[in-house]
Amino acid sequence: MASNVYFWNLRAGLKNNNEARMRKLLAAAGKGLGLAAGDLTALKVHFGEQGVTGFVRPLLLKPVVTWLKEQGAKPFFTDASTLYVGQRGEAVSHSLVAAEHGFDPLLLGAPVLIADGLKGASQEMVRIRGKHVKKAFIAADIAAADALVSINHVKGHEMAGYGGALKNIGMGSASKQGKMHQHITTGPRLDVEKCVGCGACAAVCASKALTMGPKRKIRLNLEKCVGCGMCFSACKTSALGINWQTDIQAFLERMMEYAKAVIATKPKPCLHLNFVLNVCPDCDCIGFTDAPLCPDIGVLASQDPVACDQASVDLVNAAVPLWPSRLPKGIKPGANKFLAVHPHVPQDMGLAYAEKIGLGSRKYKLIEV
Ligand code: SF4
Ligand code: SF4
Repeated sequence: MASNVYFWNLRAGLKNNNEARMRKLLAAAGKGLGLAAGDLTALKVHFGEQGVTGFVRPLLLKPVVTWLKEQGAKPFFTDASTLYVGQRGEAVSHSLVAAEHGFDPLLLGAPVLIADGLKGASQEMVRIRGKHVKKAFIAADIAAADALVSINHVKGHEMAGYGGALKNIGMGSASKQGKMHQHITTGPRLDVEKCVGCGACAAVCASKALTMGPKRKIRLNLEKCVGCGMCFSACKTSALGINWQTDIQAFLERMMEYAKAVIATKPKPCLHLNFVLNVCPDCDCIGFTDAPLCPDIGVLASQDPVACDQASVDLVNAAVPLWPSRLPKGIKPGANKFLAVHPHVPQDMGLAYAEKIGLGSRKYKLIEV
């Protein structure tokens, strides 16, 4: 059965301004959420790594906070620590980055709480019957929240191909242990013969798993590797790569099973908001925001994360390509822009598996508000 996906195409006017359009979107998509007075509601967001500018702008989220409060909920912005040792690897630096990026409780009306504690060890174990995952490790305060609204910046992703609702929930809500659990087996394959010693991979490896060896050949320490995938796209000679189809498919499946575990912690439906703005080629973890692949498209909202992601992918792919960008020259509207910049990812980018395990439907009805 097709799921409803509500869509605001960014048009606004004096009598129907941006806040009013956002509220209309929320009123349509939020029917039946069943929020009760005092529900502690996690707004799962990505605050953006230092140096990134493509994350969802906080001011766009003020009407979301206001609307949730009107339903009686008590919303808070949240995310979990990263595996790598950047600015979001522990709660102190993570909170500061959130503040630097404009997530100000006084301005937005909701505090920032890092969901897995000071050092990323605060987690809840959730049992599921997945093909890969039997015990999922979820950031404790996301698991404990009474309700969940995912705030998703739609963009490409180095390993998953595409990042939207399912990735933000599945990977983003996992504790460090849960993230490691999903990344396992995706460490790189190194073909030393192809290495030209440029050092680009070591520069992006936050785990310091890559170091320059004798004769300017890179050395890989798999013990330190967390399988983040940053080096795959940094290496222009294909000296670093992975067993693409097998490992990426298994990685995507684990991520979808984690998304299922997170949603299973909620007795009420979750709401997913996909911001199809600044559709850059990489994740907001990467430390910079490259030029967008298409013009800004709008905001999608649905209680079905699979439908929300499928609709977002379809809208991006149908859009006019933008250059200068990482897109290959000559790509036409309709071609898969995410696969054009991340060609190692399976065609469906994990959405077929998400549908298969009951996370939602790839069929959707797009309803403009
Ligand atoms: S996947 Fe690459 S960048 Fe990531 S930790 Fe491993 S070696 Fe470093
Ligand atoms: S990016 Fe590739 S070529 Fe450059 S040092 Fe790393 S492995 Fe070698």
